[in-house]
Amino acid sequence: MGLFVRGVETEVIRRFVELASRKRLRGKVLAVPFANLPAVRERRPHLRMKPEQPYGDDRGHNMNRTWPGDRAGNDTGRVSHALYQAFGDEATHVFDLHCWEKHAAPAVLIRDTPELRELAAKLGHRFVHLSAPNNITVGGYFCSTGRIGVTYECSGQYVVVEKQVKRGLRLLTNFAKAIGMLGGALQKGDDPVLFFDRMATLDVTAPTTGLFVGRALPPCDPVEKGAVLGRLPSDVDLSSHEIRSPATGCLRTYGASRANCDVALPGHHPDVTEGDRLATVAWATQRGVSAVRLVGQLRQLGRSQTAALLEHS
Ligand SMILES: [Zn+2]
Repeated sequence: MGLFVRGVETEVIRRFVELASRKRLRGKVLAVPFANLPAVRERRPHLRMKPEQPYGDDRGHNMNRTWPGDRAGNDTGRVSHALYQAFGDEATHVFDLHCWEKHAAPAVLIRDTPELRELAAKLGHRFVHLSAPNNITVGGYFCSTGRIGVTYECSGQYVVVEKQVKRGLRLLTNFAKAIGMLGGALQKGDDPVLFFDRMATLDVTAPTTGLFVGRALPPCDPVEKGAVLGRLPSDVDLSSHEIRSPATGCLRTYGASRANCDVALPGHHPDVTEGDRLATVAWATQRGVSAVRLVGQLRQLGRSQTAALLEHS
């Protein structure tokens, strides 16, 4: 199901249903192309939000946190309740599609269990995020009731990017194959698959204040150490800085983004202040202990870049 229709989710679901209708299916697909139609019509994440109202200021209308719904609740809780009645008890698995900001790489979100880790590794999607257990998101509720719930954050609110649609479709098709609903081999996906507790990341930060002239690199893509990520002409002294990748890895984030960029334009203006994040490069680490450890600190990279080294080992 697609919880929000602010990006590519609905198109992924439409193509999956089209594909599944031509194949022999074991089981049944209950597809919900969008869940919160009143909010969709307002082009906002939650019902009756005002321009630039932060996502977190949802007044109890964040549908993501209303499952399995409340028949006596507010409008959003009642919509969730009605939807849950239509698919919730019948379904054995839920694949919940979301969309987050365009600067962040798309990611599979799972509860941290050996079974779900094994499933996520098979799906061949670059980034896998481990979420704390909950029983109020639809995926969390399924896990809490002994079923399989996986959430996926597509990349790019308010835009439909073909590359991201294809990624989402490959992922959803592989999910259907992995759970035995569709036959055939899983499509080869990203290599490596990076679990958030088994990867190292480096933030590339702005060495000066100015306008970041990026190269429209898609988040998730591989990047080589030294590759040019963009240029940053300084507003302060008119010097020009070439921004390069400090490591070989994959783009976990790319581009200038700051608080509320999911609801407000100033949040994604490429005019950056010294120290703002311009990109995050991630790569696999072999040590697999679920603790986040700060092993490095701000270090000078070349003439102009500083980066914070956080190793999740
Ligand atoms: Zn989400």
